[in-house]
Amino acid sequence: MSHKPKTEHENNKLHKRLRHAVGDAINDFNMIEPGDKIMVCLSGGKDSYALLDILRQLQSSAPVDFELVAVNLDQKQPRFPEEVLPTYLESIGVPYKIVEEDTYSTVKRVLDEGKTTCSLCSRLRRGILYRTAKELGCTKIALGHHRDDILATLFLNMFYGGKLKAMPPKLVSDNGEHIVIRPLAYVKEKDLIRYAEIKQFPIIPCNLCGSQPNLQRQVIGDMLKDWDKRFPGRIESMFSALRNVVPSHLADTELFDFAGLERGQTLKHGGDLAFDSESVPERFSDGLDEDEGEVKIAKPRKVFNILDNRAKG
Ligand code: SF4
Repeated sequence: MSHKPKTEHENNKLHKRLRHAVGDAINDFNMIEPGDKIMVCLSGGKDSYALLDILRQLQSSAPVDFELVAVNLDQKQPRFPEEVLPTYLESIGVPYKIVEEDTYSTVKRVLDEGKTTCSLCSRLRRGILYRTAKELGCTKIALGHHRDDILATLFLNMFYGGKLKAMPPKLVSDNGEHIVIRPLAYVKEKDLIRYAEIKQFPIIPCNLCGSQPNLQRQVIGDMLKDWDKRFPGRIESMFSALRNVVPSHLADTELFDFAGLERGQTLKHGGDLAFDSESVPERFSDGLDEDEGEVKIAKPRKVFNILDNRAKG
């Protein structure tokens, strides 16, 4: 990874942007309440280091008190550098717990060699982390997923699952016992990469288990990166769409009462435009990038539809 020199001014801007993005997500979703004890899941990757770092900064200036406890699950993967996380956590003075469970051997025993082991591995990890949160008396579990993880999940679900479903910034855990929060929900992965370089977090590589990468997720990740380069503003616009859902203009009969529609009914998002096409704004701003000014959205290029009727002359 290249380490481009960054000016102090740029670093300060990045720092401010991250702090604001995390603060806004926490406020918008009421992620943290007074007296909370938050278990911050630390994998040793850039995202969870940044999550812990920014939460600690907010903790020191927040008008309410809350506790943080960092938890790492040592899955006994070969060459896992056991000393890295305790050394780091002690150096910054954060309460922590390292949970040692050999899920690595379990996964290898159960699955055939060469298969993607991630789904079983993450199911086991989830169970252990839920149990740990209970043992520690934590009221919230904080995960380091960021904006681009959320969008990648949206596309995975659309492409392969037939569902309009992403990864929520806050939800009850699947066993109903915990509140899971994702304070990095508004944060761009690009910013986390830069932040990890600046802060020199002691990153632990994520390929120690030797599992084959999830190809579908990788393809979608590449697609999003490509779009981000070619169509500035598209990623921001897509994430904004997740926060501006219009059930009356989708097709889910459980979300909107299509059957009971009546003439003269006032609809929050307007009625049907019949033959007129939707107007597309030329500029887009999600309000998260005040430091960078408004993000321009590329004008849609004119394309033809072979099924359109030729204009009668
Ligand atoms: S990459 Fe390895 S450690 Fe990570 S979820 Fe997959 S199997 Fe588990």
